[in-house]
Amino acid sequence: MSKPVTNPQTLQWQAMSREHHLAPFSDYQQLAEAGPRIITRGNGVYLWDSEGHKILDGMAGLWCVALGYGREELVQAASKQMRELAFYNTFFQTAHPPALELAKAISEVAPKGMNHVFFTGSGSEGNDTMLRLVRHYWACKGQPNKKVIISRINGYHGSTVAGASLGGMKFMHEQGDLPIPGIEHIPQPYWFGEGGDMSPEAFGVWAADQLEKKILELGVDNVAAFIAEPIQGAGGVIIPPDSYWPRIKEILAKYDILFVADEVICGFGRTGEWFGSDYYDLAPDLMTIAKGLTSGYVPMGGLIVSDKVFDVINAGGDFNHGFTYSGHPVAAAVGLENLRILREEKIIQQVKEETAPYLQKRLRELADHPLVGEVRGVGMLGAIELVQNKATRERFSGDVGVGMVCRGHCFANGLIMRAVGDTMIIAPPLVISKTEIDELVDKARQCLDLTAAQVLG
Ligand SMILES: *Cc1c(COP(=O)(O)O)cnc(C)c1O
Repeated sequence: MSKPVTNPQTLQWQAMSREHHLAPFSDYQQLAEAGPRIITRGNGVYLWDSEGHKILDGMAGLWCVALGYGREELVQAASKQMRELAFYNTFFQTAHPPALELAKAISEVAPKGMNHVFFTGSGSEGNDTMLRLVRHYWACKGQPNKKVIISRINGYHGSTVAGASLGGMKFMHEQGDLPIPGIEHIPQPYWFGEGGDMSPEAFGVWAADQLEKKILELGVDNVAAFIAEPIQGAGGVIIPPDSYWPRIKEILAKYDILFVADEVICGFGRTGEWFGSDYYDLAPDLMTIAKGLTSGYVPMGGLIVSDKVFDVINAGGDFNHGFTYSGHPVAAAVGLENLRILREEKIIQQVKEETAPYLQKRLRELADHPLVGEVRGVGMLGAIELVQNKATRERFSGDVGVGMVCRGHCFANGLIMRAVGDTMIIAPPLVISKTEIDELVDKARQCLDLTAAQVLG
């Protein structure tokens, strides 16, 4: 279904891939046979590949390019900072202006009482930092036995040893003896896939109650924290039933454990609020951030720490943890400029009031398609469930690979939609316009038709 290669350079790059490049989350034999699609350029919500095809990027890179490609101000911020001070560390009682100014700017947009930022190079490192900081917190409080972190099956928290362990992806755990000890998983609030005959509301309460059950099973004196994405991203844009978060909050209030919101995808405007925690009123104790923080122009992540947690570790002596690139000045300068643009151009307000309602309305038009079992979404996040039988939510057999078939048609027709199993997901740049949303949804329907023609015969 992919078109034959016409640019000789494409073949050269594909040979380099085959001979030298180990790509993330890839089957190397498969990749070598097909050859990667080579992306060479981006502007606004569009990408171009080495064959000259223009593609609407419905995934904002990998959930991160909030401001779209080619924002000159971000380029300027990076080059200016590189000339001024390309690198210095923030270890051993030194600092530099960009890291300090970004920490302050993040505190200004973060939920109330979340005023302290530890910088990392990625979301995974943010969650590694979280694990160490949370255990340090309880040790400082004289409760060193409180070590276990509860997370959810099919959650995604990164790919380092701690990140992959915190995540609930079975195929990741299967490699390298994960999860590490001290991490426990509970079921996810995925009604469409796992709700059976329950109503979404009843299922949401059931899924939340699994947290209480797990806390009691482990003993509250052993539990340090619960971590969750406000909306699961990589797991398939899983939006909990309305009953889920209020019940989780009740349970967390009852027991003395910390709440960590992994905001790597939801943070910085994706839901139409600054954070997913604002959207659901979660009031977490810690928040992991990355991706949208710099619009992906340079790597950066971090952990936002509440006053409550800070006050304890502040009195606890050295926190023996850090990365060479914690608060990297160039990344911090880009992050600052990214935040300035989000605020001054009122981009999140525009998402909330204009473009997200439009995207959600247009996406739901796809619910009438014969392949589509459910369309759901919040803000600039959306999911389309592909099914064999709309009424019973019955799936296609795995051999069909309907999600990958659909993804192939999308790529071939100038649209990036990701497939998580048979769930098609989107998370376009926050700056996508209504006209571009029309193009996205029209192309999605065209590709659903092509997919239906192929799999339904
Ligand atoms: C992407 C992601 C991470 C990991 O971030 P990296 O920068 O890839 O390490 C962690 N949590 C969530 C929710 C993510 O989507």
